[in-house]
Amino acid sequence: MPTYSVNAINVGSFNLGESDKIITLFSSERGLIRAVAKGARKPGAKIAGRAELLAVNKLLLAQGRSLDIITQAETIESFKAIRNDLTRLAYAFYYAELTVHLGQGLNQESQIYYEMLMAALRQLCDLNKEPVYLCLTFQLSLLHLLGLKPELDSCVLCRKRLVEYDLGVFHHDLGGAICNLCFSTKTPQGKGQKYKMRLAEAEEAYGYQDNIEPKGQMSSYFTHLTPLVWKKLILASYSPEQKPVYPNNGSSEIIEKTLIAARHLLETYIEHRAGKKMKSLGLISI
Ligand SMILES: [Zn+2]
Repeated sequence: MPTYSVNAINVGSFNLGESDKIITLFSSERGLIRAVAKGARKPGAKIAGRAELLAVNKLLLAQGRSLDIITQAETIESFKAIRNDLTRLAYAFYYAELTVHLGQGLNQESQIYYEMLMAALRQLCDLNKEPVYLCLTFQLSLLHLLGLKPELDSCVLCRKRLVEYDLGVFHHDLGGAICNLCFSTKTPQGKGQKYKMRLAEAEEAYGYQDNIEPKGQMSSYFTHLTPLVWKKLILASYSPEQKPVYPNNGSSEIIEKTLIAARHLLETYIEHRAGKKMKSLGLISI
């Protein structure tokens, strides 16, 4: 049986037979791989810890007919700090779930994404860093790598440069923001005041979580864009190397609510593009 070696992060798994597991791995060398970890569910087995979600291993795999088989595993990193904090763990599971569902599209850039995911998980281990903000920058970096970076500077319909008093909605089909004028006059959903009133009602009822899907228009999906959320997204969209410092104007509660709203907006956009609801988000209580 031919063998190959990779450095890989465990991003998903399910049980196979009585004692084995099938692991979904994202490797630096080959992108997404599914492989069997034999005996991973046997109590006390050496492979058990190495088969856990988020464990990073140097692996030797034997090529099988349908699935490859892990023959050797050596731990590189296990992100212990994340495992001691439920919120951070939930975010890490979200990153892993995104990798399972979108990783196929990243196979050509597997090394870049592997390093990005490793860096994102290391940052989550830093208890001084705000996990919501880290998640926001991760979502934007992932979208950038997938070629789906949201357009936030200009209106995706009229190309006019956006300013905070002229924001309409973030349109998930078009992948960017629409100015207020285009939203109320050019989009089929706009239809003037009536829809805006619905937005206002929803905003009042749900706070920032105002993902609205108008009846009968399932394929068009958008989120109301407030100036605070828009600014947060713009600031977070700088390249991951240039760690942006976001201004702490306003109370910490407002800043946190704004960050969460921005994260929700990107969650919705990613799920819309992936055609899949991410389950791990249910673990995130905020
Ligand atoms: Zn416009």
